[in-house]
Amino acid sequence: MTSNFLKVACRDCSNESTIFSRATSIISCDVCGATLTSPSGGKSDLVGCNVVETLE
Ligand SMILES: [Zn+2]
Repeated sequence: MTSNFLKVACRDCSNESTIFSRATSIISCDVCGATLTSPSGGKSDLVGCNVVETLE
């Protein structure tokens, strides 16, 4: 099973963050506090961000 890190950009303020693709907790934007991801069935559901890059 592959896990990796994703570079994502907040949809609200475009701040870039690096998150774990299988994070099991809600991750919030450091800048504006928007919810970026929420856990869904063992992987992160990207609810408030767009993937910029997948990091191996
Ligand atoms: Zn933000």
